[in-house]
Formats: sequence, structure tokens, C-alpha cells
Amino acid sequence: MSLAIVVQVVVDRPLAQGFEYLWDKEALGDAPAVGGIVEVPFGRSLLVGLVIKVSAHSDFEIDKLKYVTRRAPLDPLDPAVLRLMNFASQYYVHALGETIIPTIPQMWKKPNDWEKIPKKLAVEQEKKRKKNNSEFSESRIEEYQLNICQKNALKQLRPCSKNEFKVILLQGQTGSGKTAVFLNWLSDVLQDPSSQVLLLVPEINLTPQLERRVCTYFPDKKMAVLHSGISEKVRGIAWHDSMVGKAQIILGTRLAALTPIPNLKAIVVDEEHDVSYKQQVGIRYSARDLAIWRAHDLKIPILLASATPSLETWVAARGGRYEYIRLDQRAQGASLPKVYLINTRDPQSQFSPSDADNPKTKSLLTKTLANAVSQNLEAKQQSLILINRRGYAPVFSCGACSWLSRCEQCSSYMVVHKAGAFGRNSVMSCHHCGLVKNVVSHCPDCGNADLKTLGQGTQRIEDSIEEMWPTARILRVDADSSRKSKGAEELFQRIHEGTVDIVVGTQMIAKGHDYQNIGLVAILDADNRLFSQDFRAAERLFAQLVQVAGRAGRSNKDGETGGAIYIETQFPDAAVFQYLLTHDVDGFLSFTAHERKEAGLPPFTYQALIHAEGKSLDKAINFLNLLKGNLKSRGHVKKGLRVYDPVPKAVMRVAGSERAQLLVESDNRKSLQDVLEEIDRYLRDQSQGRISKEGRIRWLIERDPISI
Ligand code: ADP
Ligand code: ZN
Ligand code: ZN
Repeated sequence: MSLAIVVQVVVDRPLAQGFEYLWDKEALGDAPAVGGIVEVPFGRSLLVGLVIKVSAHSDFEIDKLKYVTRRAPLDPLDPAVLRLMNFASQYYVHALGETIIPTIPQMWKKPNDWEKIPKKLAVEQEKKRKKNNSEFSESRIEEYQLNICQKNALKQLRPCSKNEFKVILLQGQTGSGKTAVFLNWLSDVLQDPSSQVLLLVPEINLTPQLERRVCTYFPDKKMAVLHSGISEKVRGIAWHDSMVGKAQIILGTRLAALTPIPNLKAIVVDEEHDVSYKQQVGIRYSARDLAIWRAHDLKIPILLASATPSLETWVAARGGRYEYIRLDQRAQGASLPKVYLINTRDPQSQFSPSDADNPKTKSLLTKTLANAVSQNLEAKQQSLILINRRGYAPVFSCGACSWLSRCEQCSSYMVVHKAGAFGRNSVMSCHHCGLVKNVVSHCPDCGNADLKTLGQGTQRIEDSIEEMWPTARILRVDADSSRKSKGAEELFQRIHEGTVDIVVGTQMIAKGHDYQNIGLVAILDADNRLFSQDFRAAERLFAQLVQVAGRAGRSNKDGETGGAIYIETQFPDAAVFQYLLTHDVDGFLSFTAHERKEAGLPPFTYQALIHAEGKSLDKAINFLNLLKGNLKSRGHVKKGLRVYDPVPKAVMRVAGSERAQLLVESDNRKSLQDVLEEIDRYLRDQSQGRISKEGRIRWLIERDPISI
């Protein structure tokens, strides 16, 4: 009898272990390899899995093992990416199969199509590569064109292109030319035709712009673009190009951080502070943090770029753990925009009936802001108006009784949307569970026909602006308007081309775009986020304000000022606004770091959340209380570790499920890791997958949560 070949395979299920199968060399035509993608029988179905071990024996009876049914026509994933997956699985306390399998593009997970893949790839190869995919070209800034600041930065960066682990923070104000610096740096690395680099951007919306720039800089290098907005086939091919080393530049959103890149030599994480790097479903990883681990593992440099670094990164750079490079000047010579705080409680800032220019209907903008917008229109510059809420109004209400448009499935309100966004009629929609209903004409409780909207969203501001400036060209940019036609890219294009005068939008407009003609930026609802139970709210708000402010006055066309920022607020004295007045990013971060240190909060401590949801809040809380009690009784709550009481989530009920969470906090990473592994073991023991047998509570462990 010839020796049996036993392989251990992980599948996309919340199971801690791999499963053993037999490998029939004759049928599969090859010896098995760790990292190979296979198809295996699992229960009554067939699943795609990954080989994690090959051996000659099993603890089970060999005869009872089933056979691997098929193998993908693909080389095994490289050992480095498997190490990364192993680390991610351990650090985020998530099963290995559940960590790896979702990172493999669909194209490679359809065993019925596996036979056809080699031919498909050959056809792709035949197709002539598009040389330059941009409709309008970007200018390439050669090394000699860099300004003094940029040259200095590049000089500091250059030594970091060897095979040595180093994290570098490139902190430069908005428009200071960070991109030009890191692209010039990467060109050193890319000189070796076998080297690969990874470029991460936080959002799909920002990929086309960077893609164009990269094409201009490296017209002859093959690039693989990876994000969730491209077709499965294109993504499958890009992933393959990366894993076989054909693509030298891998550009993408957070999912690209987990792509196999066998010859990876440098990583750039652009806008490193952005919360979009955090995955919020399944394994809740931070792509930035995993990228840092990957750089460490491979002994290569990683550059984090931002105008508003996250506190974690900033503290590390200030403390000397990261290399710290600054760009303190705008690339095109413009100065930073001037900031005006409009106190909405000051009657002077509001229109009064005696004003000659008092609008016919009530203005939703203050008089100060409205005048500034008028002036900016006259100056033929564009205005950006930010309001972080889409829809027409956040709540619908009855004036006669106390009825409010509560969602029947969630503890939140249904948002009123004007006709157009979701079809032909006005609707109310819940942004938590997606429930959509026609707008009611009468109060469901008392029958009153006089219903009112409360508050405002982008659509309502758009309406109001149309009334105030009837001849201006107005564009709304939010998730609703970008769902239609060609999506967000087309909307941004219109801003770039200058065919709009006033843009009203959500945070989508705040990020990374290099607009050239914005003279004014206004923020309407900053106060909403000033007093939040989340300790990171101020940090987020500040970063967003600096970022959106940074869209203004970038070009310095006529040697003028760098545009103007208007913030409507009832609390102009708040620290966030005061630091913004002087664009004092370091001042704000230093102030915030001090606060966090005093309060014992991250980045000075480490946190994890245990999420629990079920039919009733009581059951979810009870489930977490039992967990807490168990940890205590077994002596797992050691010194330096705090397990808080379970609490309902901020939005407690979503889509009929009631949700609670338990916070675990530790002074060091190690003891947090230990207790999380304990928790995972304990919860798995009494669960089927990730649902408890008793009470049917769905649970999940989240490491380094970004909101509490
Ligand atoms: P950041 O990434 O820091 O916000 P960008 O790299 O987008 O800044 O640069 C802002 C703008 O300045 C871009 O339009 C870019 O082409 C331009 N730019 C960058 N460096 C220079 C330079 N040395 N001379 C002229 N323009 C530059
Ligand atoms: Zn009523
Ligand atoms: Zn809902």
C-alpha cells in the first residue's frame, strides 16, 4: 500500500480548526502544496478551501477521510501572505478559513469554471494593454520640479528603500504635494523590474485620481487595481497579476492589503487616518495595521501619508518609534484657507426681516455664509457646502400629537427622501436597516394632515440654495446622487471641469480630491458631532474639517489667499474649532493626546469589544454578563485589565435585532490578546459557529474598535 497523503484544509466557516482530506495524486495530477486552493466535500455540499498542511498521517482513521475533489489551476499562495493571514486570524481572533477565503476573488472560487480559467487568462494576455486610461492627463512632477520641502522629504525617504523595516509618517498639510513625493520615492524601488509596491487608498472614489497619477508617472509599469467597485472578472485577473508578480504596482482599497504580492518591496498608505481602512463586517481588521505588520514581516519600508494623522500614528512618530517627515508648505504656493467661525446664536449672523437682501423663504444658511457664497460666485470660484446627512430631513413629525417617523425595526428614525432618490415618489427610509416606505400623508396616530419635517439633509439644503441662487449651477454629491448614472466619479469630474458653481455634499466631498478652483468651503452641521459618547468623535471631526478645508484654494492661480472656510456653530469656543482657526494640527493632536493619556484611553491603552445581538436586549446583556462573570471567576481579569459592564449599543435595535456590547481594556497588548483568546474559547464552547446554543445570541469579537 502506498503512503496516504493527508491535507488539512480550512473553509469559510466560523470553525477554529481545519479539516483533513485525502489527496489522490493521480486524479488531481499534482502533489499538494500548502497555500493551494481546492474544492472539498463538506457536510452535504462542496466548498472551496485552502490547504494549510500536508502530511502522511492522520489522528483519525484514514479510511474514513474524504477526498479533495478538485484543485484550482493556480500556484499556491506564497508563504508570506499565509503568514499575514495567520497573524490576522490570531490577532483579530477570527477563524483562519474565515480570514483567508473571503480575500480570494470570486473568479477563483467557482470550481465549475476552473477549467476555463487558463484560456481566459491567455485571452486577456492577448488583448493589448491600454496605455493610458485617463480621459484627461495629470501632470507629472519630476524630481527637479519638486519644491525645497518636497526635495528634503525625498532626501529623508531615499535611505528607506533598502530591505529594512521602517514606518515613516509623511505629514504634510493638504495640497503640500505628498503624492508627488511618494511617487518619486517609489520610482527608485520600481527600478528593479521584479519589485512590487502596494499603494493603499481609503476609498473607491479616490482610486481613479491616484490611478491616473500613477499611470502618468509609470506609463510602462503594469498596475493591478483592486477594490470592490470593479467586476469580479477584472478583480480576479488583477489579483492573479499581483500574485504571479506580473503587476509591479498594486493599487487599491483595504482589501488590497491582503492580496498576495510575492515580491513586495514598499508600501504606501495614503490618508492613513481614514476610518475606511477599518473593515466593519466579518473580520474587523485595520488594513493600515495589517500593512504595517506585513512590512515588518518582510523587512521593508512603509510610508503613511496624511495631513491629519491618526493619534496612534502621530504619537508613534513624535515618540520616535516612526520616522517622521514633514511637508509644511502648499506645493503650488497657495497659503492655507482663512477660517471663519460663524456663531449661529449671534443675531448679527442671521437674516432679519429688515434686511434688504432678506430671502423670500427662510434661509437655511446664515446671512454671513450666504453673503460669502454670493461673493464667491461673483469671483467665479466654486463653493463646497458640507452637510453630513443625506436625504431631505432626518425626521418626519406630527405637530398635533407626538408621532415621529420611527423605524419599526430599529431604534432610529426614518429619513425623508425627496422623489428621485429611491424612485418616483418621496419616501421615508431607514439608514440602518434599509427599510423604505412611501411618505405618509396623514399622521398614523391621530390622522392629522399637517406633518412637518425636522432638521435638514443634503436635498433640503440643495433646494434652499437653488431658491437663493437660481442661476447658479448646483450639484449634490452623496450616496443617493452617486448611485445613479456613472456614479461618483462622474460627479467629481464635473467639479474638476468647472461646470458647477456650488456643490452640496456629505463627507464624500471632503476627502483627498485635488480640486483646483474651490474658493469657499462651508460646514453646516459640525455641532452634531461635537458632543458624542464616542471619545474619538472630536478627533474625527477635526480631521474632517481640516480635510474639507484643504479642498479650498489649492491652486493659487492669481497669487491670492488660499480660499475661505466657514463653520456654522453654536460653540465657537470648542477646542476643535479653535485649533482649526490656526490650522494647528499638531496643537490639536497634542491636546488630544494629553486628554487621552489622562483618561487612560487609546492609544495609551488597548481595547476590544464583544458584540452580542439577539431577539431581546435582556438576553444579549445577560449573555455578556455571564461571560464577564466567568472571566472573573476563572481569574482571567488580572491587574492592568478592565472588563466593563455590558451596555446597549448607541443604536440599540437594528432590523429587529437588539444589540449590546462589552468593552475590554488593557494596559498592554499581550494581556488583551490572552484574554480575548480565553473569551473566544469560552464562547465557542457554548456556541454553534458564532451563535450561542442557549438564547441564540450572535457574538463577535472586535479588536481595536474605532468607535465605542
Ligand atoms: P497632497 O497629496 O499633499 O494633498 P498633492 O500631491 O495632491 O498634495 O499635490 C497638490 C497639487 O499640487 C497637485 O495638483 C500637484 O500636481 C501639485 N504639485 C505637487 N508638487 C508640485 C510642485 N513641486 N510644483 C507644482 N505643483 C505641484
Ligand atoms: Zn399625530
Ligand atoms: Zn430600520
